[in-house]
Amino acid sequence: MLVINCPFCGPRDEREFDYGGLAKAPRSKVERVASNSEWTAYLLHPGDQGRIADEYWWHARGCGEWVRVRRDTTTHRIEQSEVESDR
Ligand SMILES: [Zn+2]
Repeated sequence: MLVINCPFCGPRDEREFDYGGLAKAPRSKVERVASNSEWTAYLLHPGDQGRIADEYWWHARGCGEWVRVRRDTTTHRIEQSEVESDR
């Protein structure tokens, strides 16, 4: 069981949350059109993040806010959680 620290509600059982997928890397600030392979990689592989993954979690059975969580996928240890403003 994960305990996710909601920035608004404090530590909560993961069952209060719905998983929202991997957080995508921010779009490049480069002023050019991405190639097809670059765009495909951005959409399908939102980050080859290894064992540390940035994820979206929605506090569906709580405050209703989206939380961005940095989690070690091997130990499930949550290293950071913060308000997600891009959702
Ligand atoms: Zn909450």
